[in-house]
Amino acid sequence: MGAARLLAGLRRYFASGVTRPAAWRRGQLHALLRLLGEREEELVRALEQDLGKSRTEAFLSEVAVVRAEAGFALSHLDRWMAPERIPVPGGLRPARAWTQARPLGSVLIIGPWNYPLQLVLAPLVGALAAGNTAVLKPSELASATSRVLARLVPQYLDPEAVAVVEGGPEASTDLLAQPFDHVFYTGGERVGRIVLKAAAEHLTPVTLELGGKSPAVVVGGDLRTAARRIAYGKFMNAAQTCVAPDYVLTTPDAAPVLAGALADAVREFYGSDPRASADYGRIINEHHFDRLVGLLSDGTVVSGGRHERAERYLEPTVLRDVDPDSALMREEIFGPLLPILEVADLAEAIDFIGARPHPLAAYLFSDRDEDLLAFTERVQAGGLAHNVCTIQLAVPGLPFGGVGASGTGSYHGRQSFTTFSHLQPVFSKPARMDTLRLAYPPFGPLKRRL
Ligand code: NAD
Repeated sequence: MGAARLLAGLRRYFASGVTRPAAWRRGQLHALLRLLGEREEELVRALEQDLGKSRTEAFLSEVAVVRAEAGFALSHLDRWMAPERIPVPGGLRPARAWTQARPLGSVLIIGPWNYPLQLVLAPLVGALAAGNTAVLKPSELASATSRVLARLVPQYLDPEAVAVVEGGPEASTDLLAQPFDHVFYTGGERVGRIVLKAAAEHLTPVTLELGGKSPAVVVGGDLRTAARRIAYGKFMNAAQTCVAPDYVLTTPDAAPVLAGALADAVREFYGSDPRASADYGRIINEHHFDRLVGLLSDGTVVSGGRHERAERYLEPTVLRDVDPDSALMREEIFGPLLPILEVADLAEAIDFIGARPHPLAAYLFSDRDEDLLAFTERVQAGGLAHNVCTIQLAVPGLPFGGVGASGTGSYHGRQSFTTFSHLQPVFSKPARMDTLRLAYPPFGPLKRRL
């Protein structure tokens, strides 16, 4: 079906009002939970096929995240949908004023390949909770997951309200030419610009969940714990995670110790040959594999570095002696290369981050309250975390999104509901007795004084 006909059908269904009541929204969220529960095996297998994800990781970082979002939405939906009373100034009374969240209409959700299930279905939770109809466009690069979504979603969710369109840039381009009521895009900056321009044609509002170079600053605390937590956040999904720490900033005395501790953490997690570990993933395709291998020469490899193109395997790798102006430090790495750069202290680290585009996340490892405070006050990033990496996303109540170059808008928890709703203000005055008479012209001297 063409994109225009698809949207026309979704719009008609939305206009019928079927998707508005809380009962329909709840029904869809429960259906999504059933899909995730009953078809977990097929979903996890597709993720394994696309990205070599271990079953546990696929479950925890994709299926479980969507389940938590849907559960959170179900338990808060009544509160989110309830009208909120707004006080009316004395001169306008008698009257009532309130705000009421209304669904936007028909929305488009375009997903990337790195968490191809989570990053399509978690936004969908918000779209459904808010009472919208939606088109999902999963990434063609994670083709097994795209196929399984296209097959299962219509079996569980209302097929008149949710459609899955498979395909690459051409499919996205066709969809983006349509006047959707919101476009929710997750992916890289280059395509983000294309999405924003296409949406501008229809004045369609957009959420852009982009990426960037998220720093991890290590200036205090136990270095071995920091190393384990950084290695965990970095190397899951073979470091193809938008909020993975992209690089580390630390002091010259800590750098060699941290580098050694990171190598130890990798061994602890994935053994001495991560290639043989069921828990270590693969690079999505040859293009990204070649790009990453090309970046290896931008520093001194202090651990890891082995690779095998036929398998798209790239070992978790730590680098030092990296030029801040090299390609490794200019582009988002989005793969298992972790450069360690040296700074004199926390203040220099904060300046280093501030001189670059705002990252999606920024991490500080320290056990000093004044460091946590300074970092939190001075670093501008989509989100911040202290003494952990990446797992902040597992808190459904925390909004998730970028700022500046790392994105526009946010979601998760209540924020997902808000993103896909219009907060409609209503002002209501009784028709009986014209209590506005005092406001009408002519404005004699008496009224002017009022
Ligand atoms: P991408 O930009 O290549 O593609 C994302 C989506 O855009 C896909 O569905 C693709 O089919 C579509 N697309 C590709 N070319 C297009 C075109 N010309 N016109 C319209 N649509 C097009 O992104 P990616 O490589 O899949 O994802 C990696 C990037 O995404 C990284 O930068 C990463 O940091 C970012 N990311 C961000 C988040 C987040 O939540 N903020 C999450 C995951 C990934």
